[in-house]
Amino acid sequence: MAIVIDPDECIGCETCVELCPEVFEMDSDGEKAVVINPDSTADCVDEAIDTCPSEAISKG
Ligand code: SF4
Repeated sequence: MAIVIDPDECIGCETCVELCPEVFEMDSDGEKAVVINPDSTADCVDEAIDTCPSEAISKG
């Protein structure tokens, strides 16, 4: 299980970064979120998955 973000779906709203900064951060352009801790089991990951407006986050 690895947490992934589909960059084609991410709209860069930063919600996942605000909810779960130990797992997500914005890329160097500040346009897309990226996963920095794909093996995290933190509860905030599920919260981010449920909250992402474009359903870009999944556990592959
Ligand atoms: S919550 Fe979803 S759309 Fe918003 S930055 Fe994170 S992955 Fe992208």
